[in-house]
Amino acid sequence: MLELRQVHKAYATPQGPLTVLASVDLSLAAGESLALMGESGSGKSTLLHLAAGLDLPDRGEVRVAGRTISSLGEAGRARLRRETLGLVFQQFHLVPSLSVLDNLRLQARLAGRERPDWTAELLERLGLAGLARRYPEQLSGGQQQRLAIGRALAPRPALLLADEPTGNLDEGTADEVLELLLALVRDTDCALLMVTHSPRVAAPLDRRLHLTHGRID
Ligand code: ADP
Ligand code: MG
Repeated sequence: MLELRQVHKAYATPQGPLTVLASVDLSLAAGESLALMGESGSGKSTLLHLAAGLDLPDRGEVRVAGRTISSLGEAGRARLRRETLGLVFQQFHLVPSLSVLDNLRLQARLAGRERPDWTAELLERLGLAGLARRYPEQLSGGQQQRLAIGRALAPRPALLLADEPTGNLDEGTADEVLELLLALVRDTDCALLMVTHSPRVAAPLDRRLHLTHGRID
């Protein structure tokens, strides 16, 4: 589902190039869940951006669902994101002017893959069925992130990329949101790459990898 081969990524800085990823190899099978761990600044978000085709590696190859990201143009990468990937970030990135229901439908509509029965089931499982007509600002943080997770999973992506998805929530809420995310991913046979620095959050996933000094150990 996801494969990185000898991926190298550096950023230009006033002090010269900063190498963030050096010869990174990683592979994730369909339906598998993987936690990407490492200290702040270790390159976790950079790796996730490369996997999402939001940025390109300097060297090496990133393949998503059998397609090489760097051989696709910008439009091709956007299409791959719409059709194959779900993205969840620490910030919820909901659309404030859209209702809960319209936020939930947004990605599926953009991908031309809206399924009303699945939308209804999602609303129920997210605990948002009674709140469908509300707006994001009227929801708690936990409810907003549940909605963001539902929006990402509404088109039934094959791979969910999540960057510290519970990082903005208190511990109890984080546990509930994580449990829900993992159950939805499992039930839809979606592969998961989740960035977290928390061993507790990483524990229930199939595998854990650590990024240190630009390398995976
Ligand atoms: P993490 O998500 O593990 O905290 P990041 O991938 O966000 O790490 O960042 C890794 C390193 O790269 C950090 O030192 C960060 O400051 C630097 N960095 C990230 N993005 C950029 C950028 N666009 N330009 C320059 N440096 C960056
Ligand atoms: Mg990060």
